[in-house]
Amino acid sequence: MPPERTIFLIDGQSFYASCEKAAHPEYRNRPVAVGDPSRPSGIVLAACPIAKARGVTTAERNFTALAKCPELVIIRPRMQRYIEISLMITKIFESYTELVEPFSIDEQFLDVTGSLGRYKSAEELAKQIQEEVLLSTGVWSRVGIGPSKIMAKTATDNFAKKNDTGVFRLDYNNIEETLWPLPVHQMFMVASKMATHFAIMGLPTIGDIARTPLPEFKRRMRLRMGKQSDIQAEYYWQTARGIDPSPVTPSIRNELKSVSHGKTLRASLYFRRPDIELVLQELVIEVCRRARRLGKQGRVVSVGAGETDGERAYRFGRQMTLPHATNLTHEVFASSLRLFREYWHGLPVAYLHLSLTQLSDDNVTQLTLFDDRARIHDLEAATDMIKERYGSAAIMRASSLQEAGVARERAGQIGGHYK
Ligand SMILES: [Mg+2]
Repeated sequence: MPPERTIFLIDGQSFYASCEKAAHPEYRNRPVAVGDPSRPSGIVLAACPIAKARGVTTAERNFTALAKCPELVIIRPRMQRYIEISLMITKIFESYTELVEPFSIDEQFLDVTGSLGRYKSAEELAKQIQEEVLLSTGVWSRVGIGPSKIMAKTATDNFAKKNDTGVFRLDYNNIEETLWPLPVHQMFMVASKMATHFAIMGLPTIGDIARTPLPEFKRRMRLRMGKQSDIQAEYYWQTARGIDPSPVTPSIRNELKSVSHGKTLRASLYFRRPDIELVLQELVIEVCRRARRLGKQGRVVSVGAGETDGERAYRFGRQMTLPHATNLTHEVFASSLRLFREYWHGLPVAYLHLSLTQLSDDNVTQLTLFDDRARIHDLEAATDMIKERYGSAAIMRASSLQEAGVARERAGQIGGHYK
């Protein structure tokens, strides 16, 4: 048995609306929604608790919301700002634990197992984080606590969002009396169609699934859903029991142990894949150059991005472990491209981040059967030398000369500021 973990899923309440209320203290006691005020048929993207208390709901039309709540203040969304605040919150979390994983723009997983020693309880730590995030961003956090990611997420969605403290712990001692009586549609990842299947199968509550022995549950799922349903059956059964061995995968920055680089972009300009991938390539070139200068190579490549089309916004941070450590541009680029293509939702990109972690010294360069890595390493080291002597702009890949290339622009900056 692996040691029991303590995991938080922290959700920002009415995230976009809370960011706007923090920026507009004059609306403090007024109902506020985020949406396009110039379009009556536009959609409410977020509503503050005061607006919600007056019947305003997300995803309804502005005119419907205004009919219920005529004094509603509707503020135009600033998605780039929300992504920045989301990153700021990640930074706060990272001061408590290295293991922070963004799940969406307003939800992040934290593995705090190693940080609990300094606190009376997990609840006390949760409270402290709530206060710090509220003070620095104006966003009220709801903290679900559990021994697995699925338990923490369930604790937030079903309980912490609904109580006054905003903190709830779900564990194997209270799961039977808290989670299992709930209707199955309240289980994570169960949509209405699936809930109907479970109802027909005679399993109306989460506990009905959890209490059915797995082989029996699989058999009933096969009868209802066909032969291919075994994996799905296992997933639902484990979810109902809170079983989820997946680790909290640290996000995109880990300053001490990584070489990383990021770039904030004007999302309105970076919506075409080739342009975005070009920026990614520039980041790879820069990170690999820094790694070589430090005499380091890394085994884990991470790509993070924030994306928005003005109405929706996503964040992700994903990583990949390579068969061997590297600081070679083409190897890091190949894996970062795979990550980006797999996890990008396709919206314009507002920031991009790349890091190389699990570092080791690069004095031993592994040779592989298929390419002469030592030779490429020497070639890249020589390029580094020329860059160092004549500036980054001296050698740039031809692609950087395209309009979207940001390397030239970056060469004219020091630490992100123009020289
Ligand atoms: Mg939220």
